[in-house]
Amino acid sequence: METQTKIWLSSPHMGSNEQVYVDQAFRTNWVAPLGPNVDLFEEAIETFIGNEVHVATLSTGTAAIHLALEILGVSKDDEVLCQSFTFSASANPIMYLGARPIFVDSERDTWNISPELLEKAINDRIARGKKPKAIVAVQLYGMPYKINEIRRISQEYDIPVIEDSAEALGSKYLDGNCGSFGDIGILSFNGNKIITTSGGGALISKNINYKRAAIHLATQARDNAPHYQHSKVGYNYRMSNVLAGIGRGQMEVLENRVESRRFNFDFYYDSLNHFSEIEFLKEPSGYFSNRWLTCILTPSFEIRERLRLALLEDDIESRPLWKPMHMQPVFHSYPNYTDGTSEDLFEKGLCLPSGSNLTEEDLDRIIALIIKELTV
Ligand SMILES: *Cc1c(COP(=O)(O)O)cnc(C)c1O
Repeated sequence: METQTKIWLSSPHMGSNEQVYVDQAFRTNWVAPLGPNVDLFEEAIETFIGNEVHVATLSTGTAAIHLALEILGVSKDDEVLCQSFTFSASANPIMYLGARPIFVDSERDTWNISPELLEKAINDRIARGKKPKAIVAVQLYGMPYKINEIRRISQEYDIPVIEDSAEALGSKYLDGNCGSFGDIGILSFNGNKIITTSGGGALISKNINYKRAAIHLATQARDNAPHYQHSKVGYNYRMSNVLAGIGRGQMEVLENRVESRRFNFDFYYDSLNHFSEIEFLKEPSGYFSNRWLTCILTPSFEIRERLRLALLEDDIESRPLWKPMHMQPVFHSYPNYTDGTSEDLFEKGLCLPSGSNLTEEDLDRIIALIIKELTV
């Protein structure tokens, strides 16, 4: 039997200029956590997202969430509302600050934070004597959350929103780009994201003071003095100028990467949608997803596992949907406002290989295997 190559869930996909900009960093000796690539990468993101946002690039998306929480005033014993159906990096930084995560379930249209449960959670937390300090809303798998509904709740209760767009660069709601909807938005450039700097992140805000605060905190909170003077505890979270070179190159191909990921989704959809067992998440009207990962819902845990193991057997990586945070051992003891939605998605859902560098032969191979499993 011929040996086939491994198909990854989502692997890095370099364009043509990344190495040019990395070489520039070497030639000019800007091998440091600042320099021209950092400035130009930030400008490229600002231009792409538009809406007069300011961007600070950082070492990781997790660092960006950490700084966002701190800038919005979250500190020890505060409560922070957080979408339960997400990757742990949305919630971990709440713990770094000694605050308490309060988990909120998702709704079915976008798989993101439910406005009804969010409002219920806020009212209940206030009734118990503490108003939450922030809302972490996520755009999972690239799908924007219910932008207007979450904004209305944020304004009515005066609680700021951290928009976790780690998976949603290139996604839109109406004519606004993801990353520009929250009080602070965050991006990730980890190796598996739609574009990557190997590791990296960014903090986004229309408020220039938030960008300034982020850079201040990310560079050990150094005060303005000729010597090193510090009035508060800082972090070392700035992005390397070498890695920002990769980011500059990746921004030049971002639109193309979104197109490829959406092509993958359409390919899977057209090939599998006629099976009554397989369901896809559709874009509600006005929503544009970058389709970072194509996800399917199966009728049961057993069928999902059967598909996953059959793919694995053929060296094809797929992955169950995120296990909700309120089900995680580490977060088990924190309050949650849930209705079973994310538990059901976790049980039945599978992320299919979705890289922008997949070939049609790869997609055919994956689809043939899935169809074989569905028709046995
Ligand atoms: C990847 C990711 C993050 C964190 O980003 P890192 O750059 O890996 O630290 C945060 N939230 C979500 C939803 C993510 O997928």
